[in-house]
Amino acid sequence: MFDRRKFLKASALSAAFAGVGQTKAGNIVAGMANGIEPVVISTWDFGIPANQAAWKVLAAGGRALDAVEQGVRVPEADPKVQTVGYGGFPDRDGRVTLDSCIMDEFGNCGSVAGMEHIMHPISVARMVMEKTPHVMLVGDGALQFALENGFEKVNLLTPESEKAWKEWLKTAKYSPVMNIENRSYDKLAPKKLPGNQYNHDTIGMLALDAKGNLSGACTTSGMAFKLHGRVGDSPIIGAGLYVDNEVGGATSTGVGEEVIRNVGSFLVVELMRQGYPPEAACKEAVMRIIRKKPETAKQIQVGFLALNKKGEYGAYAIQKGFSYAVCNKQRNDLLVDGKSYYNS
Ligand code: ASP
Repeated sequence: MFDRRKFLKASALSAAFAGVGQTKAGNIVAGMANGIEPVVISTWDFGIPANQAAWKVLAAGGRALDAVEQGVRVPEADPKVQTVGYGGFPDRDGRVTLDSCIMDEFGNCGSVAGMEHIMHPISVARMVMEKTPHVMLVGDGALQFALENGFEKVNLLTPESEKAWKEWLKTAKYSPVMNIENRSYDKLAPKKLPGNQYNHDTIGMLALDAKGNLSGACTTSGMAFKLHGRVGDSPIIGAGLYVDNEVGGATSTGVGEEVIRNVGSFLVVELMRQGYPPEAACKEAVMRIIRKKPETAKQIQVGFLALNKKGEYGAYAIQKGFSYAVCNKQRNDLLVDGKSYYNS
């Protein structure tokens, strides 16, 4: 039944949030309000070159699905990004295990979790989606499937990440840090954080193509030095990524356990379905985490990023420091500071 109060609340939120964010330079940017113009957005500063690769597909009139796959392959192959793909920090046992998923405009999805030795898990996830009756393959099964389908076996552990792991082993303290904010995009060099802590950050990407179709991809090496076998939110459809072509898409980064507990990306999309604009939907999903575990939430980062069918986008995080990259016809290198619950 039509709920007028809910509708009015959602309309008021629409006006307040309509795809607006604050750029690093302090300018206000707005998502598309009318018509369909392609756009691609992704988490963190390494999203800038990833978006640019995705944009090549979108600008040529290509499919959002191809765009997001091509886009996230960039950080997957970049050894300087130590939280995604090749060169990612290993788990507690020194093994680099990757989590990825992809979802298209028809609601098809594919995923791999805990997969070793493959440079582009996102492309394996796509193959799971397109060539099997399944959604998700894990561990050795995912590797076997990849090798059987022509993917090459590589060593994903770079000397830099191995060194970091060996240093971490001296204390073996598992303490994920919130962000690696204040890292400028041209300084993506491996960064050791104070107190022998290492970062976690995932690339989640959402695109709208010229036909008005949405797709998303999410890929990560997960939490640095996690228990072997730990799977985060990133390959879980509904948690790390969700796309509904009628409504919009959402993706997440941060402590995956909290995102899984709240089925975060699905929640964001469902809130958008109710009329929430992207940023407001992300905020409500963040508030759900904070309300359930206020003490835990003080210590962790979770950020959501969302794009709706109109091309409006927005983000919200628990902690300050969550940035996201936007690429459209106007700009190919925009980095936006997402709003957050804690601001200091
Ligand atoms: N969400 C990822 C995970 O839990 C990590 C991150 O995005 O920071 O594996």
